Amino acid sequence: MSEKTKEIIVEKRVKSTIIRRRAKQVDVEEKPQEILVKEGVAEKISVDLKAEDSAKPIASAEVSKDVKKTEAVSDKAAVDKKQPSTPVLKIVEDESEISKKSAKKLSRKQLIDDFEMEMIKRQGGLRKIATLVDLSVKVPKVSDVIDRVERVFEPTRSAKGKKKGLSQKEFKKTEITTPKAIKLVIPIDKTIIVSDFAKKMGVKLSDLVKKMMQMGSMVTANQSVDFDTASVIAHEYGYTVENSSFSEEKYIFHRQADQAKTKSRPPVVTVMGHVDHGKTSILDAIRKTRVTEGEAGGITQQIGAYEVVTPKGKIIFIDTPGHEAFTAMRARGASLTDIVVLVVAADDGVMPQTIEAINHSKEAKVPIIVAINKIDKPEANIDKVKNGLSEKGIVSEEWGGENIFVKVSAKTGEGLDHLLEMILLQAEVLELKADPTLPAVGNIIESKLDKGRGPVATVLVKEGILKIGDFVIAGQYSGRVRALVNDRAHDVKKAGPSEPVELIGLDGVPDPAETLYVIDNEDDAKRITEHRKNKIRSIKSGDQGAMKLEDLFAKVEAGKIEELKIVLKADTQGSLEALNQAVSKIGNEKVKVTVIHDAVGAINESDVMLAHSASAIVVGFNIRPDTKARNLAEVEGVDIKIYRIIYELIDDVKKALTGMLKPKFEEEYLGRAEVREIFTISKVGVIAGCTVVDGKLISRTNARLLRNDKVVYEGKMMSLKRFKEDVKEVIKGFECGIGLENFNDLKINDTIETFRLNKIDQYL
Ligand code: GDP
Repeated sequence: MSEKTKEIIVEKRVKSTIIRRRAKQVDVEEKPQEILVKEGVAEKISVDLKAEDSAKPIASAEVSKDVKKTEAVSDKAAVDKKQPSTPVLKIVEDESEISKKSAKKLSRKQLIDDFEMEMIKRQGGLRKIATLVDLSVKVPKVSDVIDRVERVFEPTRSAKGKKKGLSQKEFKKTEITTPKAIKLVIPIDKTIIVSDFAKKMGVKLSDLVKKMMQMGSMVTANQSVDFDTASVIAHEYGYTVENSSFSEEKYIFHRQADQAKTKSRPPVVTVMGHVDHGKTSILDAIRKTRVTEGEAGGITQQIGAYEVVTPKGKIIFIDTPGHEAFTAMRARGASLTDIVVLVVAADDGVMPQTIEAINHSKEAKVPIIVAINKIDKPEANIDKVKNGLSEKGIVSEEWGGENIFVKVSAKTGEGLDHLLEMILLQAEVLELKADPTLPAVGNIIESKLDKGRGPVATVLVKEGILKIGDFVIAGQYSGRVRALVNDRAHDVKKAGPSEPVELIGLDGVPDPAETLYVIDNEDDAKRITEHRKNKIRSIKSGDQGAMKLEDLFAKVEAGKIEELKIVLKADTQGSLEALNQAVSKIGNEKVKVTVIHDAVGAINESDVMLAHSASAIVVGFNIRPDTKARNLAEVEGVDIKIYRIIYELIDDVKKALTGMLKPKFEEEYLGRAEVREIFTISKVGVIAGCTVVDGKLISRTNARLLRNDKVVYEGKMMSLKRFKEDVKEVIKGFECGIGLENFNDLKINDTIETFRLNKIDQYL
């Protein structure tokens, strides 16, 4: 310690256990934690030390710019609130603190990277106040040092905008020593990737994996560990973990609409229906008559949605017809459709996709307007359509129902104006409103990488006004709005509620359905996307939140769900009805079972998307998922269960409800050997000299011992040897030595049968 240095006691708002220790040790002789401030460092640092059970500081200290005085005062009011300017820190760790091993592992660059990462994670508090100039020392745990630094400079955190970094020349040192008694804390945001975990604790990845294996968790470097597991493991290494969950809300500040400021906004419409019933034709016909009206040259561009201007108001149509797009959006949490136009061809009537569309809309609670199309055709049968729909609960107003029905022809244009009018009428009932004064929020409805323009995303604004120059985030990407282009290929300066525009300026291509937010400043935008990227990493490493039948009980017990939603698919109408009835009866007082969609036929992508968006599971009876559905289910973590016997399905759901559903295993027979000789080897146990009589034996597989055709043992094959050598497998006709786990009662003429247990594929 240099003679110029002064000492101050540092502590602020620390957890009670630590405070206790410090409070006891507060006397001048023995300071648990010191900050050695060399002359002329920060202008002012104010610190309080509070006793565990007292709100009143028992000591305060302040250091002024010239560090002339260090005094303990008991009056909090005496502490100067003046903000210090940007300090430059040099962090020095007590060499004796460092385990030599870990210190060597951390290169200087890594250390600085870690330091910066940590600062960013801590929401920039330090980045604003500290410029790290020299970090040439060895630090076992960067975050721990920052913890200390952060506490000292906490007063400066509110000094927003003061980013006056000092130059190398002006660099004045602040030394911070880590007291030995301090516990090392690792901040964890719900989960942590194993490799990051090892890094944070300064232990070798392989050591950590080994340790976790000893403790019963088989993990790989990229897997994520949950908070509870991490805290147990961390404890083993002398660390504690701390929940540091990052809250986006802090940045995406509360956007509560102010009723007084809301203005009505145009409805957003999605057109759905069975293939070939005329969805695209209707969208095109409306587009042609309306979009180009009054437009010189009539230039339009396909941006995923278009605006129709009628004398009575505007309507926004989502350009991708069909429920795939609708459900994909919803699956990602974007409910941007206000009204569904269900197209049913008058010459064809209600078809499977008509029903799917109805179920999707109902699940999303979006009102349906029926457009009976192709009325120009001689074979059109409007009543047949009405009858078919009423069976599915879609009843026209004329028949006393709630749905508006409009007869149209995309070919002749008949009824289209009326359809638009009815949409606006329905919109009026819905009282669609938005607050244009809020910071803008929207949904990405289409996105692409354009050769010339870079990432282009079509945004449908929901609230607020999106403007050129705004800082925005969407999914993992952020940027500043450079240009906005509307569906008529016009550059615009801003876009209000329900207005679709192409946005240029994001640093990547966000997924459709991501929400776009305008953020205060670039730093915050970056911080959020950084956090999201990390989160995606941990989700990819197996931390999925989708609904699984096996997890049902735990979720019900935890009060997380009250309803098991099922998408039911079967081979015949008869079995579908039987299943539907049986399944719906299963629920108990804690959870009810609801079939949200049922249909005959293979499980398709649309089923999986619906299940994903509604947190449902897909149940198939005598049918299989197609490849696309299977892949999607894997990506989205949707549970697909296939059954051949109704009873088994009912049984599984019942078991899931009572928490008894365990993963199923199927036995794979491998081979048999007959015992010819018995050897007793000291310290090892009994080894059976055998001849393989069928198939092959593979080391470390399961085995059962048969004597007179009765099973006398079932367990594991502990050793498989040929001539004292361990071998991986022995095939039919060869001799070998076999040791069974925890079993010595082997006899000549016994048969050893070996098998493997394979987890049953749920797509079976
Ligand atoms: P989508 O698969 O639902 O998008 O159906 P399309 O819009 O592609 O239409 C399927 C077929 O029906 C096309 O050959 C259209 O020309 C035809 N079509 C669509 N609407 C009408 C209509 O109102 N009247 C007649 N006669 N044909 C139509």
